[in-house]
Amino acid sequence: MPEQQQKKTILVVVAHADDMEFMAAGTIARFIDELGYDVYEYILTDNSKGSYRLSSEELVRVSAEEARAAGDILGLKEVRLEGYVDGDLADIPVNVLRGKIMSMIREVRADIVMSWDPFAPYEEHPDHRRVATATLEAAHFGGSPLFYPDHEYKPYQTSELYWFAKVPANAALFVDISATIDKKIKALLAHDCQMALTVDMLAREAEILGIDVPMLKNPDADTRAQLIEMGIRNHFGAVGEKAGFAFAEQFRYERIGMIEEILGLPARGSDFD
Ligand SMILES: [Zn+2]
Repeated sequence: MPEQQQKKTILVVVAHADDMEFMAAGTIARFIDELGYDVYEYILTDNSKGSYRLSSEELVRVSAEEARAAGDILGLKEVRLEGYVDGDLADIPVNVLRGKIMSMIREVRADIVMSWDPFAPYEEHPDHRRVATATLEAAHFGGSPLFYPDHEYKPYQTSELYWFAKVPANAALFVDISATIDKKIKALLAHDCQMALTVDMLAREAEILGIDVPMLKNPDADTRAQLIEMGIRNHFGAVGEKAGFAFAEQFRYERIGMIEEILGLPARGSDFD
């Protein structure tokens, strides 16, 4: 941990209710528990397509409740749901999304913004690609008064970006989450309908491949939890191995601004360097 840092505000912008927990909840828990930062989550869709079991209407309601429960476990200041139709985010003009995200950056005065990496390769989900691009633009220009001058809130310049990806590229920041992996798993398990989806997808995959996995045959809630916990420990354990940690989350860290370069000062790193 570097020298005494001032308290920062973080905005996490995602497409779906459980994106943040899967990709970054261990790091978010450290920001809150160790550094005392305020963290806000902005979920842009209504999560209405993520199930083999529930109707879209049920999913919208249940996933919102679960997102708030997970937010409580992590200690988020607020979980805000924008409610665009799941899967259709790319149909919303990017200037509209950029404006919405920029407005929230300005409202909460976000020093750090976290989202899907707009430059990571092989991202298949159109919602992830869209939220990534809109967030990149909103964070870079939120401090410029002539961008969206009609906003209710004053311009505010974000200075740090944490980008996550399923296939990370140029992502050199490994955050040690060994102390927060249990909380990450707990927050993830709060998304029960999404964890059921993950397990249903695994069951279909096993069936197609002809692999017999007894745990995947009509699993109850406990078995589902065991499967998710095993998957998370295996995946984030493998990420941690790359950096010498028991468990880690991986980010492409970006700092906005050029003062160090202009003044010839050493480049500042993240809170976890
Ligand atoms: Zn997602």
